[in-house]
Amino acid sequence: MKRTILATLTISAGICLITALQAAEPGKDAEPAVVTPGQTSNQPPSDAIVLFDGSSLENWESVKGGPAKWDLVDGAMTVNRSGDHRTKQTFGDVQLHIEWATPSEVKGNGQGRGNSGVYLQGRYEIQVLDSYENQTYFNGQAGSFYGNNAPLVNASKKPGEWQIYDIVFIAPKPSADGKSVLPGSFTVFHNGVLIQNHIPIAGKKTTAAAYSGAAAKGPLVLQDHGNPVRFRNIWIRPL
Ligand code: MG
Repeated sequence: MKRTILATLTISAGICLITALQAAEPGKDAEPAVVTPGQTSNQPPSDAIVLFDGSSLENWESVKGGPAKWDLVDGAMTVNRSGDHRTKQTFGDVQLHIEWATPSEVKGNGQGRGNSGVYLQGRYEIQVLDSYENQTYFNGQAGSFYGNNAPLVNASKKPGEWQIYDIVFIAPKPSADGKSVLPGSFTVFHNGVLIQNHIPIAGKKTTAAAYSGAAAKGPLVLQDHGNPVRFRNIWIRPL
């Protein structure tokens, strides 16, 4: 009887030790949160912050100060030459879903045609441009990390059609000693096509985009480049 109890205790202790060791392994120490996905991948999952659902501009403001001034037409926020707009809330690392459309009436060419932009932390721009049969410099076309890295392919739809960016943004971070910046990264899908594959974002000043250091958080900024580009269905998941 004593032997049976001893054997049981030994086995139990062994199981507890194995369980403890398993729990200590990285990535296995917490139950992942349950998230309800949208009915389609375009719809926000249950843990997303909805920044624009077509009903109001309440989560946005003018970069010049004051309330949002862009036009709200048919469920889209539309650039109207009143200046860049930003979210009231600020973010670090995120997953972002945003839909946009350049004007169906084609005017201008190169950078003058359906130009806007999505700035993470108000600093790092993924270019919005009508790049359907519209030549410009490669790292300035739609889906480029503007001034830094061209997209892998041109997945543009025709002018006026709704297009999608799904962006994973990892912000540059200060190094442990605070003397340098650890690069962040961009991964971007354009209409479901991978166009930026874990591209480094160096926290230094470049010729095309003036930024330095690292920001803990910053707003999402949409650019007013003077062309009536439309946006809809914008949601974000802090990572
Ligand atoms: Mg732009």
